Amino acid sequence: MIERTLAILKPDCVRKNLIGEVTTRIEKAGFKILALKKVRLTKESAGGFYAVHKGRPFYDGLVEFMSSGPCVPIALEKENAVAEFRALIGATDPKDAAPGTIRKLYADNKGENIVHGSDSPDNGKIEINFFFSSKELIDAQ
Ligand code: UDP
Ligand code: MG
Repeated sequence: MIERTLAILKPDCVRKNLIGEVTTRIEKAGFKILALKKVRLTKESAGGFYAVHKGRPFYDGLVEFMSSGPCVPIALEKENAVAEFRALIGATDPKDAAPGTIRKLYADNKGENIVHGSDSPDNGKIEINFFFSSKELIDAQ
């Protein structure tokens, strides 16, 4: 099934000047980019995006981090995109991430882990709509 998923190159990725390198890995893995932009989340919007984690011990730190600098949301399309993107980025904690995955290669720790990936096709749609209007999503060729 062709699916859509949302990637976010997180503020640590942008600060480390890794936008190009990480995006290249995403493209080389066969993902088509439907839309991409640079944004600075407020605490309120970061908190809204991660509302599912509200109440968890890491929530406040996550909101602080995600609003600490610009990030780059990218709407992606591919066969089996959700699972394949999560395989490409690796486990949440880079210590547990498989060799060659984006988090293993570039992330410092479980919180500052370079990139977000949606966890289901339904959430992929919801998360893409959080950042992009339907007319900004340009069909993949
Ligand atoms: N996070 C954290 N500590 C934790 C778990 C998660 O700082 O113990 C942060 C981390 O940035 C992670 C995000 O919260 O990417 C969302 O957590 P989730 O469990 O959804 O991980 P993901 O889906 O990003 O792998
Ligand atoms: Mg998640």
